[in-house]
Amino acid sequence: MSSYEPLTIDSAVALVKKLGLLAETDTVSANEIGDGNLNYVFHIKGTEKSLIVKQALPYAKVVGESWPLTLERADIENRALRLQGTFAPDYAPKVYYSDKDLAITIMEDLSHLTIARTGLIHGEDYPLIARHTGEFIARTLYGTSDFALGPQEKKKLQHTFSNPELCDITEGLVFTDPFFNAETNDFEESLRADVEKLWQDDELKLHAAQLKRLFLTAGDALLHGDLHTGSIFASPAETKIIDPEFAFYGPFGFDIAHFTANLFMNVLSREEGRREPLYEHIVTVWDVFNREFSRLWNEQNTEAFAKTEGYLEWLLADIFEQAAGFMGLEMIRRTIGLAHVKDLDGIVDDQQRLQAKRHSLSLGAHFVKERASYSSADQLVAAVKEALQ
Ligand code: ADP
Ligand code: MG
Repeated sequence: MSSYEPLTIDSAVALVKKLGLLAETDTVSANEIGDGNLNYVFHIKGTEKSLIVKQALPYAKVVGESWPLTLERADIENRALRLQGTFAPDYAPKVYYSDKDLAITIMEDLSHLTIARTGLIHGEDYPLIARHTGEFIARTLYGTSDFALGPQEKKKLQHTFSNPELCDITEGLVFTDPFFNAETNDFEESLRADVEKLWQDDELKLHAAQLKRLFLTAGDALLHGDLHTGSIFASPAETKIIDPEFAFYGPFGFDIAHFTANLFMNVLSREEGRREPLYEHIVTVWDVFNREFSRLWNEQNTEAFAKTEGYLEWLLADIFEQAAGFMGLEMIRRTIGLAHVKDLDGIVDDQQRLQAKRHSLSLGAHFVKERASYSSADQLVAAVKEALQ
């Protein structure tokens, strides 16, 4: 057993050599590349292979030691990565080694790929990203649900993925703070009138409260928990989903909602004429999710009511409605909450940026309130197109 200490570049290299992941005699170059908010990420490159050592710190790196955060998240991330790898091996990084006490995961180096958010901002397209992500979500969610595992196995697994501290971050930053005059909020002064209007919108707050309750109580499946475009490495051919430290048992619609919300926010940053590939991705991810979830349901299901007419269709419709709401919440909080997205913040022209953020807020609020009137991704896309006209 090792006891915790933060790694340095040198001790990270020494560790991978000691573990035999690189030869003792190998010449290596190494650096810390974490652009994330919470953890150290060391990139270690030998003459023939390279790997990533990710280590949790006992506080959130972005804020510093004043924001303590459990090291257990590294163990959650490592176990979630391995489990996701069994259901969706093409879309999860390989894990080579993990140490709970050191709070590290040593995994496949994906540096040949680009973080999808960065690529999308630069106008890249990833033609397969929606298909791959839809398959990833359907397989990992279905595979960890009551339907696949049966309620007993599922509850045992669920028990090992209680993630109270990281859930608390989501409960605060996504589901609560943006709707109140909370200290964590962060928005441009020019948006103040819009934000104050939102704080006074009691109908919106009621819907946010309902969605928050769903997040708190619905233990459908093991979620990734933070599936935005910054958690996806992509190329035109490959897609890998990283960083599941927020994994826990939550509502089916959550992950797909965050993916689509982040695609829509990228839409808002693009000129007309360059938005179509993203609209297609939003329709595709839903098609693929529905198809793959249904395939798995029909192939392998422990539920006595599995073949009861209308049950699967009802469930998929329910997941869609939830997701439309979660998507709206993600758009709101990324605009006025603590953690923003570069897609919107990076728009250089003040008027264009404010306009994009206003759209993000108003569309977000609309999807939260009107989620029950939406039943297909085509309709979501049509609503965004209409708002942008
Ligand atoms: P955090 O949990 O701190 O947000 P991430 O897992 O998102 O950390 O990683 C932060 C950054 O480190 C990523 O945006 C990426 O640039 C880099 N990174 C993380 N994992 C890998 C990997 N397996 N291969 C290559 N780079 C990685
Ligand atoms: Mg992270």
